Amino acid sequence: MKKRKKSNHKYIFVVGGVMSGVGKGIATSAIGTLLQAKGFNVNLAKVDPYLNVDAGTMNPTEHGEVFVLNSGLETDQDMGNYERFLNRDVLVEDYMTSGMVYKGVIDKERNLGYGGKCVEAVPHIRDEIVRRYEHAAKLNKSEISIIEIGGTVGDYQNIMFIEAARYLKIKHPDDVIFIMVSYLPIPSKLGEMKSRPTQHAVHQLASYGVHTDIIIARSERSLDKRRKEKIAIACNILEENVISAPDIDSVYDVPMNFEHDRLGEIILKSFKLDPRKGEGLGEWKKFAQGIKNHNQEVNIAIVGKYFNTGDFVLTDAYLSVLEAIKYSCHANKVKPRIHTVNSRDFEIDNPDYSTLDKYDGILVPGGFGETGIEGKLNVIRYARENKIPYFGLCYGMQLMTIEYARNVLGLEGAHTAEIDPKSPHVIIDIMSDQKKKIAEGNYGGSMRLGLYPAKLAKGSIAESAYGTKSIKERHRHRYEVNPKYIERLEKGGLIFSGKSPDGTLMEIAELSRDTHPFFLGTQFHPEFLARPLSPHPLFTEFISVAKGREKKNV
Ligand code: GLN
Repeated sequence: MKKRKKSNHKYIFVVGGVMSGVGKGIATSAIGTLLQAKGFNVNLAKVDPYLNVDAGTMNPTEHGEVFVLNSGLETDQDMGNYERFLNRDVLVEDYMTSGMVYKGVIDKERNLGYGGKCVEAVPHIRDEIVRRYEHAAKLNKSEISIIEIGGTVGDYQNIMFIEAARYLKIKHPDDVIFIMVSYLPIPSKLGEMKSRPTQHAVHQLASYGVHTDIIIARSERSLDKRRKEKIAIACNILEENVISAPDIDSVYDVPMNFEHDRLGEIILKSFKLDPRKGEGLGEWKKFAQGIKNHNQEVNIAIVGKYFNTGDFVLTDAYLSVLEAIKYSCHANKVKPRIHTVNSRDFEIDNPDYSTLDKYDGILVPGGFGETGIEGKLNVIRYARENKIPYFGLCYGMQLMTIEYARNVLGLEGAHTAEIDPKSPHVIIDIMSDQKKKIAEGNYGGSMRLGLYPAKLAKGSIAESAYGTKSIKERHRHRYEVNPKYIERLEKGGLIFSGKSPDGTLMEIAELSRDTHPFFLGTQFHPEFLARPLSPHPLFTEFISVAKGREKKNV
């Protein structure tokens, strides 16, 4: 038998039990915050079972926001949570999908990378996953990797990721633990918390050869001692390793709730790691408590198209935008009141624009395609003419430019080539390198993606908000302000206050403060870089102006 290789690097695998949607991503993020506060260098990673090579081609209505990393990789929205909870960027290597893994193995096979062997799920797919787990740990130079396995135990799709984690534990028995985030229902007819589904989930995981070390028990209420005992005995784990995770109002309280049940200590004990001094949760706690303490409300409308699915209103597609607003509201000592406004309501004959007056700020986030566009343009016009603070993100900036061209410069029929390439005034045009990609049907990971630099104009709102002349922001688009119209737009009063360093790409558009209190749009997505402990300057400026309007309204 080979000599057992001792690795000092630790791996925590977070799996879901019973059902999805119980906050596995937030639990994973909060474990990261907790261990980081205890002085450990951690990285958070997500594995998604689907066969898409990345999340970029998926519909956000169904799958939530597509989150873009610095490198441009289009990922699951959980990666956004990781960055926000760790207050730092995560790496490309911290994300993988089944599609990515299979593609890697198949490409290698096509290049004779397996030396004539028969290539199979086990060992080749499994080993490729293990290689990626280890590679990410090395690149992060972290001490502990916390890896969230997407889906629920019992799914067919995530079995290979669990198998790889099991195999990693065989290689490093003392360095791998498994945490199950499970759910304990309280059926209203019974009025009693039921632990049986969780027991089944733990047994199911055991049937894959994986022992659950810690259970994070999500439920409406806190777990009582009886329930903890029951789960501990049935699942063969220590009673103290059953962590109570009741529903709470704010996800930012989760690290403190975990700390209350000593989750950090239990993890360190499982790894036989000595406690460290660390910086503690002080700053985080201040933020989490602070956001609840503000009385003055700011009413922000998010004008989108994804909100209504059946009887439900889903806001996940704009998750980072919502969070960015929260952080900047806190920075301005106000409480956000978010209103989901369906742009289609402003496409009918004689829409009631006066409903927009109650908002202190209007935001049009990123988007694609035709649905609701004319409604958005109508809302933007109203915001401009009535001096309601307006913030446009990506599509929201492109539409603001089109609105300006149509209604201020009088360019009738002005449009984006995305919708009307035959428009007499293509104000927003496809970027030259994108044309070929679209013609070839090359849609996956082919937009202008990730971090790009921009230079800010002296004396602009953007420059004063950032407090610097050069910035870097994350992008995700195929279209740009048509260079042929830049001069006319500028002459007409629209200020391009952020441009690519070579001056060719318009990254920020704004109106001067004497014209409008805040009418600004960004070609990039500032929401991807907003963090609880470092709110985004443009969001903070937008909220600050909105807050001023609120005061006037009172
Ligand atoms: N659809 C627009 C483009 O591709 C805007 C994209 C976005 O808002 N992310 O350029």
